[in-house]
Amino acid sequence: MDKKYDYLIVGSGLYGATFAHLATKQGKHCLVIDKRSHLGGNLYCENVEGINVHKYGAHIFHTSNKQVWDFVNSIVEFNRYTNSPIANYKGKLYNLPFNMNTFYQMWGVTTPAEAIAKIEEQKAEVTARMRNDGVTIPRNLEEQAQMLIGKDIYERLIKGYTEKQWGRKCTELPAFIIKRLPVRLVFDNNYFNDKYQGIPIGGYNKLIEGLLDGIETKIEVDFFANRSYWEGLANKIVFTGKIDEYYNYRFGKLEYRTVRFEEEIQDMPNYQGNAVVNYTDREIPYTRIIEHKHFEMFGQDVYSCPKTIISKEYSTEWKDGMEPYYPVNDERNNSLYQQYKELADKEEKVIFGGRLAEYKYYDMHQIVENLLTHSNLG
Ligand code: FAD
Ligand code: UDP
Repeated sequence: MDKKYDYLIVGSGLYGATFAHLATKQGKHCLVIDKRSHLGGNLYCENVEGINVHKYGAHIFHTSNKQVWDFVNSIVEFNRYTNSPIANYKGKLYNLPFNMNTFYQMWGVTTPAEAIAKIEEQKAEVTARMRNDGVTIPRNLEEQAQMLIGKDIYERLIKGYTEKQWGRKCTELPAFIIKRLPVRLVFDNNYFNDKYQGIPIGGYNKLIEGLLDGIETKIEVDFFANRSYWEGLANKIVFTGKIDEYYNYRFGKLEYRTVRFEEEIQDMPNYQGNAVVNYTDREIPYTRIIEHKHFEMFGQDVYSCPKTIISKEYSTEWKDGMEPYYPVNDERNNSLYQQYKELADKEEKVIFGGRLAEYKYYDMHQIVENLLTHSNLG
């Protein structure tokens, strides 16, 4: 017998909201539930003193896929925010990502040829060490970073930040983490290589509200508190929560890294002059400070609002009850996830999607792209 809804969608984050939007457009009847007291998952912003505060960490939308960009802009127009974080190492400031501005600040070099020569000189020590040990491929993040950019930048801008972020020594971390950092021989502080980037005008809640417009939603409802009731309501379930929880942790618990945010209202219009400042030395306990107003107010506009909100980010080990942010895709966790995935693949009435259900670090554009490329939503 047909049930009340075609889809019960567990989780109103970007995956759940986009799924519900696309399914509704195809004539399906959806109900979206979320255990939090608001919709939007980790994109949720709270308006404090007229500023949209990214409650679950700063989010910058970036993509090179025109279809994805057009889709999100059809829901809400995006602004021209360009991410260009600053690194603060013991009080001295450097531009990120590593580009001609950084090389000038670090070594005083003024041309790409001088920068190349300096980087080559800087790499000599690690290459000699690796040659000595008879290896050609970097064995860990420290070697990879030094091969990429040399000793000075590694020690001032990478080592401390990375060890704070991951809670482990760079010599014990895999090389791939650092491979994606751009290194540029031009004066360009744009953190991303993507064609398009920005923040929804009016904040991320506008994006979520637009996606869920006209769709039935319920908040403060935990699927597991009354599982059989919710399962009975719909022909199919779209599950965007933790996959191990769905299976009652029968093979064991997946691990995460989490972040603690310390939010402060500052009685001044402009605290640090930029949305993102990374603290790259080991001594300062937080990894970065986010000043939220700079995502949506540019130039002198920041002075139109007399106060400002900052968040200090402390990267910490995840324990039960904390927000699960970053999947730890090491061998143990990946093979545990595979066990759960085998069960998930056999389900005929459940679709597992998003960061927690697929145990994968997805950026926002990847979530949207995955859904747009599935014309038949399962
Ligand atoms: P979520 O947003 O986690 O949504 C899952 C939802 O399911 C939650 O609302 C949760 O409450 C709900 N839920 C879970 N279990 C249950 C249950 N049992 N019952 C009911 N509801 C349940 N991406 C970018 O592109 N750019 C960035 O700058 C960026 N910055 C990030 C910074 C941080 C700190 C983090 C953690 C992520 C960042 N991301 C960024 C990634 C981005 O957050 C994700 O791509 C996106 O949020 C994933 O959406 P989702 O729907 O899969 O997950
Ligand atoms: N990183 C660093 N110094 C910085 C910024 C980044 O060493 O100032 C390193 C760090 O190891 C981090 C990796 O680069 O894990 C990837 O950085 P990105 O900003 O892409 O990480 P995200 O926070 O988005 O996962």
